[in-house]
Amino acid sequence: MKKTVLTLMMLIMTVFLAQSAFAGVVVIDPGHGGIGTEGSGAIYAPYVEKALTLSVAEQLRTELANAGVTVYMTREVDTPMSLDQRAAYAKSVGANLMVSLHFNASGPHDKTGCEVWSSAFGNHAVVGRQLGSQVLGQLSALGLESKGVKVKLGDRGDFYGLIRNSVAQGVPAIIIEHCFLDYPTDRAVLERVGTAGLAHADATAIIGFLSGGTGQSLMNGTLDVSPVTAASLPAVSGTVGAATPSPLAASFTPQEWSWLLSQWAYTGNAEGIINTKSVAELRQLLDLHAAGKL
Ligand SMILES: [Zn+2]
Repeated sequence: MKKTVLTLMMLIMTVFLAQSAFAGVVVIDPGHGGIGTEGSGAIYAPYVEKALTLSVAEQLRTELANAGVTVYMTREVDTPMSLDQRAAYAKSVGANLMVSLHFNASGPHDKTGCEVWSSAFGNHAVVGRQLGSQVLGQLSALGLESKGVKVKLGDRGDFYGLIRNSVAQGVPAIIIEHCFLDYPTDRAVLERVGTAGLAHADATAIIGFLSGGTGQSLMNGTLDVSPVTAASLPAVSGTVGAATPSPLAASFTPQEWSWLLSQWAYTGNAEGIINTKSVAELRQLLDLHAAGKL
């Protein structure tokens, strides 16, 4: 009898602790989805980014839910979704945090490592830096080189649309670029640990962050993560990191150029993103498009 009561009390306490420790809501955003270059994300056979992000997301959801975190996913199937829609969805489910999952690839195939992108503003930046450091700590323990928690500014605030749109909703967000799919040592790590290993690393980092002071005050609403919008930003002279007309445009016909722009239109900064790519890489995309594969 006593033992039963004790067991029951322990069970109730466990459930209570699990719920009270993680009273917040985390939205997992599997990057990309749907057809086209934007939909697929990075492609390096046999890897396609949109499938990898969904696989990590599903396993991450299970791990977080098992730890007592309330979890939602922006997409659960291979479907396109704008960055605006993802941020609006996070807001609609009362997210305290949005974690967007991605994989990298580079034109010359010479880049390596993991990195986290964060907002540059206020407590959104504090959350990004702290959570991002924990994520990179876990990923580098798997053998990936940590390239740090980074911020990038555009002329409307944060450069990356997912982060900009989320912080405009008052939802802190990070983008995790797990590794480069086209770099041998990164692929070796991915092949060794699988998407389950990456999901476990992300889950450990998120739970670690939520257990800490900033995570707790984020979940209980005492951390000020007011919306950050272009209108709320302090005035700057000139523009910070604004996209400049790309010199790459001269290498393509106007039709080709407008197709390329359309592929990144969802980001709100297509030209800025295209500027980071090589002519050869863009030509490759056009060839795939011409062959009906994109
Ligand atoms: Zn991506």
